[in-house]
Amino acid sequence: MTAAVSSFEGLGLSTDMLARIGQAGYSSPTPIQRMAIPHALAGQDVIGCAQTGTGKTAAFVIPIIERLADGRGTRALILAPTRELAMQVQKVVDQLGRRRGVGAALIVGGENMQQQERALRQGPDVVVGTPGRLLDHMWRGTINLLAIKILVLDEADRLLDMGFAPQINQILDALSEERQTMLFSATMPEDVKALARTRLRQPVRAQVGTTGTTPSAAEQKVFHASPEQKNPMLRRLVKQEPGTTLVFTRTKSRADRVGRMLVDDGVPTAVLHSNRTMSQRREALEGFKRGKYRVLVATDIMARGIHVNGIAHVINYDLPNSPEDYVHRVGRTARVQAKGRASTFVMPEERSQLRAIERLLGQAVPVAGS
Ligand code: AMP
Repeated sequence: MTAAVSSFEGLGLSTDMLARIGQAGYSSPTPIQRMAIPHALAGQDVIGCAQTGTGKTAAFVIPIIERLADGRGTRALILAPTRELAMQVQKVVDQLGRRRGVGAALIVGGENMQQQERALRQGPDVVVGTPGRLLDHMWRGTINLLAIKILVLDEADRLLDMGFAPQINQILDALSEERQTMLFSATMPEDVKALARTRLRQPVRAQVGTTGTTPSAAEQKVFHASPEQKNPMLRRLVKQEPGTTLVFTRTKSRADRVGRMLVDDGVPTAVLHSNRTMSQRREALEGFKRGKYRVLVATDIMARGIHVNGIAHVINYDLPNSPEDYVHRVGRTARVQAKGRASTFVMPEERSQLRAIERLLGQAVPVAGS
């Protein structure tokens, strides 16, 4: 038996990398980092079962940088489901890779194609992107994937939920089989398992807790509510909990309505959904991060991969479409070392959906006031 490594020094990293990690303020590796980094450094395929908030990004970025430090050209590709997530991953690569001379280009939809072509011509070590736009570049011949040695599928469950399987398969078919593949996913539904079975080679599994569980530090509560009770309940909760709050609604129009209501109440609130322009989304997200907005109202897809430290409260104004989405949503709070609350409004006809969530969690969510 080897003792569990509890420091970054014990993971076999370079001095430069240890310095960068120190500058990033990470004092010890998180469980997913402890489990994944040594295997990833050794070039093995890895399946990482971990949700956002566990330090999973650094778990694949650190070994990528270490393995790419001496060499040229685009050798690593990271696929992410949303532009927002891709941007955050790119930031981590640039932050941790600077000292080792490793950088990343961001290739996402909605941004200038020519600018991306110019960035790709420079041969960035790492390309971080969303599948659709990457495929566009592949067909145009503006990205050369032949030299890719490392592929990461980040948030694989969400990539597949969003219907990216055809694009991912085309990209995978264009890559050399002599590569390392790492797949990270918060949940492990059958389609993700099948992808791992067919595309990874003797992967090592790095798993944090039981798949599907929410961060243990999050205090979860259910509020039984009729549709008319939701608004007053939300206003009360937002007033009661003065910390940063993320509110989830099922539809974009409801996000807008709820956002307007809170703004009318004098609460600094921003709204994030896919009908907003790229610059509006950026402004909302940055404003929320910097504390200009205390509340962010968002739909599921947009909220994926929001990396904001210290979210005090997640409020599910509407139940998510799937139990897995509940896990993702609640994963926004109680990240790494912080504590958080998650409140979920459940209408009488939604009891069976609540049961499905509880089955995935393996525990009942207490009812508020009980
Ligand atoms: P992720 O799970 O990749 O979304 O990371 C969640 C947050 O944890 C990010 O804000 C990271 O900067 C932070 N983080 C990552 N690794 C560590 C670590 N070892 N110690 C403390 N914070 C970390």
